[in-house]
Amino acid sequence: MIGDMQKWTPNVASIIEHAKQFHPTKEVVSRMVSGDIHKTNYEEVCIRARKLASALEKDGYKPGDVIATLALNTYRHLEMYYGISGMGAINHTLNFRLHPEQAIYIINHAEDKIIFCEVPFIPILEGLKDKLVTVEKYIILCDESEMPETGLKNAISYEEYLKDGDEDYSWADVGDDAACALCYTSGTTGNPKGVLYSHKSNILHAQAALTAMSIKPDDSILMVVPLFHVLAWGIPYFGPMFGLKLVMPGMQMEGEPLYDLIDKEDISLAFGVPTIWMGLLAYCRENNKILSSVKNTIIGGSALSLSTLQEFDEVHDVNVIHAWGMTEMSPLGTTNIPTPEMEHMSKEEKYAIQLKQGRPIYGVELKVVDDSGTDLPNDGESQGHLMVRGPWILQKYFKAEKDAVDKDGWFDTGDISVLDEDGYMTIKDRAKDVIKSGGEWISSIDLENAAFGHPEVAEACVVGIPHPKWDERPLLFIVTGDGEPVEKESILDFLSSKVAKWWLPDDIIFLKELPHGATGKLQKFELRDEYNNHYMEK
Ligand code: ADP
Repeated sequence: MIGDMQKWTPNVASIIEHAKQFHPTKEVVSRMVSGDIHKTNYEEVCIRARKLASALEKDGYKPGDVIATLALNTYRHLEMYYGISGMGAINHTLNFRLHPEQAIYIINHAEDKIIFCEVPFIPILEGLKDKLVTVEKYIILCDESEMPETGLKNAISYEEYLKDGDEDYSWADVGDDAACALCYTSGTTGNPKGVLYSHKSNILHAQAALTAMSIKPDDSILMVVPLFHVLAWGIPYFGPMFGLKLVMPGMQMEGEPLYDLIDKEDISLAFGVPTIWMGLLAYCRENNKILSSVKNTIIGGSALSLSTLQEFDEVHDVNVIHAWGMTEMSPLGTTNIPTPEMEHMSKEEKYAIQLKQGRPIYGVELKVVDDSGTDLPNDGESQGHLMVRGPWILQKYFKAEKDAVDKDGWFDTGDISVLDEDGYMTIKDRAKDVIKSGGEWISSIDLENAAFGHPEVAEACVVGIPHPKWDERPLLFIVTGDGEPVEKESILDFLSSKVAKWWLPDDIIFLKELPHGATGKLQKFELRDEYNNHYMEK
């Protein structure tokens, strides 16, 4: 029997309409490319998003068209999230750090018709334009008066384009499960793959996220996670949904400008990846600054280290909420919110829990399986392939013929994890990075975290390198605080107290910097390729 409730075919634009009606004056603050601070509110964002949707329609664009953004975290990008998706088109966010070949592949594969482009990124597109076969128009994110000379086809300034839009535009009726937004995974092997989110999946994800991160209605959010990466973890949807003040750093993500924004805008909740927070913490350390307004920070995208957690807690009195997810999951899968039991724990016990990636948010199912696909127990010890299932998890990649899930709907995350009796998930490694030494597994993440605790270590990376006797052995790469090598013995002694003896790296290499990809993650394959013969030649 079918339930008697109303049919739900939501459009994400209903979120910004809700914010306009109930939180019209809540601030949306952006640092613009010029460095100036721009302030607007949800009412204005909604009206300008309507104008954009209407301008696109008048210009002949239709539901289902893919329209790209190559943009920073500013109010204009937020307007595009709603203006593009709200008229039924697909909002495709591009990462400006992509390798040119990848950018060409992604733009052509997605069949982008328009690219909205930030002024500093014009040279990127000018370099690619002859190879972009579907793009009809470039809209430059500036005022008419700021419009630069460019050879990009049909280029027009954003503000001029918006002028044609109707501020009383009524949002499109999008169909059941209609597509809303598109992101590509970074594709460290093979071509990047597209994940096509729906209006429904984005709204469900945003609602679930709100319940899973200790968010309060009076929070002021600093959104450092880029709007071009996995829909900025859902913030552009759940921020207006809950009427949260939204603060965006534009191009300036170094310690000093971030501290400045946090201080001036009274930020209480900050979202970012570990490398960004390391920069902010270092700035505060060197300049005797305290993050006094910040209550919580949500950290995900890569593993949280003990030293980052400790510094936030002990120096700044900021609670760290570790989160895990991926492009294919919209992205949130687990969060680690404090429980009442944690209040009575020692610091060490509490930190041990906080370093885990957390427990599934409602809607996400998790399990770990062995190489043959057999379920493993949730015993805190059995490591296996982490499988996920849920309404905001991908069924198949964009334009793929086959589903990306097994016959029961489980998607293999590519992560190797452990689940414990209390429901916490701990990432041990990515399946492709785990080190297989003499038939046993060594977690590169655990080793990196251990090395990271050494006072001279600013960044650490562990890679499995072919070994004549053991199949693979760990090789540790270190960037020190001052960039100069230190005694290898001092690092090995330090590690001996933290990990099993057979886990100790067979060698340590000091580098000036580690290779990072377009989303700030370590590019381990580059080091693996370069040092492939390191142990064979010894
Ligand atoms: P991409 O897959 O494009 O590199 P994603 O952002 O989708 O980028 O990356 C998802 C992966 O990032 C996860 O599968 C996991 O390996 C890693 N990851 C995300 N959050 C965490 C975390 N809190 N701890 C450890 N690894 C994480």
